[in-house]
Amino acid sequence: MSTHAYGAHAADKPIEAIAIERRAPGPQDVQIDIAYCGICHSDLHTVRAEWQGTRYPCVPGHEIVGHVSAIGSDVGTFKVGDTVGVGCLVGSCQHCAACDEGLEQFCANGFVGTYNSPSADAPGHTLGGYSQQIVVDEKFVLKITHPEDQLAAVAPLLCAGITTYSPLRHWKTGPGKKVGVVGIGGLGHMGIKLAHAMGAHTVAFTTSESKRQAAHSLGADEVVISTDAAQMKQHAGTFDFILNTVAASHNLDVFTTLLKRDGTLCLVGVPASPHPSPSIYQLIFGRKAIAGSFIGGIAETQEMLDFCAEHGIVSDIEMVSAQQIDEAYERMLKSDVKYRFVIDNATMSA
Ligand code: NAP
Ligand code: ZN
Repeated sequence: MSTHAYGAHAADKPIEAIAIERRAPGPQDVQIDIAYCGICHSDLHTVRAEWQGTRYPCVPGHEIVGHVSAIGSDVGTFKVGDTVGVGCLVGSCQHCAACDEGLEQFCANGFVGTYNSPSADAPGHTLGGYSQQIVVDEKFVLKITHPEDQLAAVAPLLCAGITTYSPLRHWKTGPGKKVGVVGIGGLGHMGIKLAHAMGAHTVAFTTSESKRQAAHSLGADEVVISTDAAQMKQHAGTFDFILNTVAASHNLDVFTTLLKRDGTLCLVGVPASPHPSPSIYQLIFGRKAIAGSFIGGIAETQEMLDFCAEHGIVSDIEMVSAQQIDEAYERMLKSDVKYRFVIDNATMSA
């Protein structure tokens, strides 16, 4: 099936209309008509080859929501018309220790990413949600129970939501815990909403004074301008957990200094160039940890979607047309997004 899509043919080429092929649904496949797709900073890193190994043509997009338009003969969990989502994963081996624990993102035999992973389908690698249809194994399809009119704002939960929910749960944040969220972009604004909903005392760190008021509205109990040394000093040694979503290389010591004994700074941002080496003194005097976290498994992604539906949580979005994707990238690079761009995929047939 030929499908309208948007992508790039090389790192220095613009995002433009590309016709792609989707496979006919196999017995376990769900075919989805994509309504909206969020724009993640990982899309930009990948399409512009800031990380190693981008395959072209590159059609990014892993914050996918839409409706089931066909199902394979063995599909039991979904029917035509269901409102569904697809996140960062569309496959894994299903038999390693990680998959057995529902941690498909850590599959020992290699997870299959929604875009840029090797695939039996043309053109030999997966193509993501900047497209009007996608065909996905039902095990990697999520159910969406939010009201239909919130669908576009649900899209970013599929990556930004789970990438922040998973570490907040893993490090057991909640009532009585002081939690920091660094960077108020797509991931960070979800981190603030989720940490607040989990009952933690939530502190937002931003480099943008203009986001101060908005950070409070998102659920932050306190907002700190991270470039202001005096404000930072007031929080020294007080945090149980800090989630750092910044997409650029920066000095991590300013955040490890803020941790309590046994506190953790968890990195989820993946800058194109490394952070300066952190101070070991900061870590050993206080048994502090710098950790990382990568998206979340399918069961936890469903848990996050249900948690958000129950608590009325969606993303704060700005809708763009497919023709505005490059412009959205440039604004994202300037931290000028409140707080996630979402593509209206209907504009791809324009
Ligand atoms: P984003 O919307 O661009 O947000 C990043 C935010 O970081 C910005 O809005 C800005 O917030 C802050 N920031 C930017 N440059 C900075 C700098 N030089 N110094 C300090 N702060 C800066 O990006 P995103 O989509 O949330 O993604 C964030 C990162 O996470 C990307 O690297 C992405 O690839 C990665 N990611 C990782 C995973 C995972 O599983 N680990 C999943 C998805 C994405 P302020 O204006 O508030 O300072
Ligand atoms: Zn993402």
